[in-house]
Amino acid sequence: MQATLDSPPLRPSRWAVLSLAGWALALGAYASDKKMEPPAKPATKPDIEATTASNPKDVGDKVRDALGTSILPNKKLVVSVNSGKAGSAPAVDANPTPAAAMAPAVSAANRRINQARAAAISGHMAATPAAAMAAKATEAHSGEAHWAYEGENGPQAWGNLKPEFNLCATGRRQSPISIEDGATLQGPAEPILFNYLPSNGTVVNNGHTIQVDVVGDNAITVRGSSYRLLQFHFHTPSEEQVNFKRYPMVAHLVHKNAEGQLAVVAVLLDNGSANALIEKVWTYMPLDAGDRVRMPADLLNVGELLPKDQRYYQFMGSLTTPPCSEGVLWMVLKTPMSLSKAQLRLFTQLYPNNARPVQPVNARPVRDAQ
Ligand SMILES: [Zn+2]
Repeated sequence: MQATLDSPPLRPSRWAVLSLAGWALALGAYASDKKMEPPAKPATKPDIEATTASNPKDVGDKVRDALGTSILPNKKLVVSVNSGKAGSAPAVDANPTPAAAMAPAVSAANRRINQARAAAISGHMAATPAAAMAAKATEAHSGEAHWAYEGENGPQAWGNLKPEFNLCATGRRQSPISIEDGATLQGPAEPILFNYLPSNGTVVNNGHTIQVDVVGDNAITVRGSSYRLLQFHFHTPSEEQVNFKRYPMVAHLVHKNAEGQLAVVAVLLDNGSANALIEKVWTYMPLDAGDRVRMPADLLNVGELLPKDQRYYQFMGSLTTPPCSEGVLWMVLKTPMSLSKAQLRLFTQLYPNNARPVQPVNARPVRDAQ
């Protein structure tokens, strides 16, 4: 399970599409994580919603607002400039244009903002020292370390990176776990009722995984509650270990009910034939961290990811990424689906290992739902 809460502060998109005729700047600082996984951050933090501006002055104001006052260090900022009308979907990698020549005249009260904006439009943050410095300054100001899957900010350190991540170290019901048939409670259990329909999806490369934010009427019913599907994402290898086996990959389908409780369905993915749903998702996979690409309408049917045999293991656990919040209902489907080696390779080229190690079970009951 994935809850990206800290990411590089300013990650310009490469899909800036520029035109001399009519400017519209869509400025969105999005917290993909926020949408995806609750233990919500404190409501005191303001959100920057996607906005549009129709003239250069508005553009400047929006950028200034975003960078100067309300941008959060753990939010990604995407600045996209396109010639379409406000609200149109950003195009992907269309007509990369020498950006410096195209920069609109923006009233500039703040040098740093202008530099950052120019870099954002160029799509090459690192190539602009001033902007890179600005980004670093923001990072330093936040005093945050970014969590990772290896190195000094790896899973062993998550609990110490920020006070909010405490549970990663001190929690007693953490995920993932090793599931062993000999140690489960076996017996009847209600089936998970899946109600998934063709939906709209946006594929997000959030710097920790590939995630699909889902918009549509998708829900599961279990334990007398209906949980709406928010997003799904992938880990390699599988975080779950079942009877001492880890699979090449796992998909986590993250749902939330009206009370804000989370339920995650894990679909294990084993080597085999190509996976139809993954093929669709990979087709729209953004390669750069911080990018997102909208899939064609109704292309996504998450039901394609489910095995016919939907027996599962059930237990209470946590987010498997910081802040490692507990109280998450986990359902690990026993029957794996397949993905091809080429599909796996494409993911591992971006994320060779994004799996948290298994955590102590601490005498938690694990139900074998037969
Ligand atoms: Zn996950």
